[in-house]
Amino acid sequence: MNIAFIGLGNMGSPMAANLLSAGHDVCVFDLVEAAMADLEGQGARRANSAEAACRDAEVVISMLPAGAHVLGLYLGRDGAPGLLDALTHKPLVIDASTISPDDTCRVGAAAAERGLSYLDAPVSGGIGGAKAGTLTFIVGGSEAGFEKARPVLEAMGKNIFHAGDIGAGQVAKICNNMLLGILMSGTAEALALGVKNGLDPAVLSEIMKQSSGGNWALNVYNPWPGVMEGSAASRDYQGGFLTDLMAKDLGLAWELALKTRASVPMGSQARNLFALHSAQGSGQLDFSSIQWLYRAGE
Ligand code: NAD
Repeated sequence: MNIAFIGLGNMGSPMAANLLSAGHDVCVFDLVEAAMADLEGQGARRANSAEAACRDAEVVISMLPAGAHVLGLYLGRDGAPGLLDALTHKPLVIDASTISPDDTCRVGAAAAERGLSYLDAPVSGGIGGAKAGTLTFIVGGSEAGFEKARPVLEAMGKNIFHAGDIGAGQVAKICNNMLLGILMSGTAEALALGVKNGLDPAVLSEIMKQSSGGNWALNVYNPWPGVMEGSAASRDYQGGFLTDLMAKDLGLAWELALKTRASVPMGSQARNLFALHSAQGSGQLDFSSIQWLYRAGE
């Protein structure tokens, strides 16, 4: 298929590379020159605007940091028209960014007014999953759009879920990441308590993994440096899923809870922890560096 890919950051670059490996014809666009050059080296075509990247595309995929970027791209900013207006040949549009369901529905409604099929398809699985092509896609939108997107998403992911109508993918993703934020901070807290009381973090991790406290953070993303080879914690928390992105996702959960009068006391606590951690200068570190908050003064 002829695919336009917009947003070649930590996630978008390996996702676009997997589309190339699967034999798709991919045209890329990013604001960062080096990101496009890298994909060009892997066989992609590059364009000098999002509109140009989408010119012949049957499918458009975007992978941008936050809602403001997605709204700006598709609906336009500062009086300039958005990308939706340029898609007169009616490609399928898939936004894989994690943004609020409200922002998603705004773009989805504008797409529908123009006769375009639009899906929200946020992902889970991190940079490792993006590179390995094992992401989980959580899709919101029409059944027909979902079926058309499935073969394309399968080139980048292993589990493809249809959560419901437009915005449902974002709701499910936000619930998942709220739980992840709670699990990661809880794991960091338990490890710090054990170590303060004389335990070896690796031994304690193994015990909790095999006990009722076992969870994803302990299994594949241990936050204590040196416990797990290859983890972000074991490379000074460089790369990975940034604290700022986790703080953003927990903020989205908070907004969603306020709007629907849901109660999220654990999620609110986690949001405050990650926001504080970010404010202390750790926004660009992997989110498992939340462990530092519990090690202050050591
Ligand atoms: P990133 O900041 O590494 O990459 C975003 C890219 O978008 C950058 O290269 C930037 O230059 C580009 N960009 C921004 N505005 C643009 C525009 N108008 N036109 C073209 N390019 C533009 O972010 P990321 O880590 O790749 O995350 C992307 C999304 O995926 C976020 O919503 C994030 O929450 C979500 N996500 C990230 C992870 C992770 O582990 N990093 C995991 C799951 C989901």
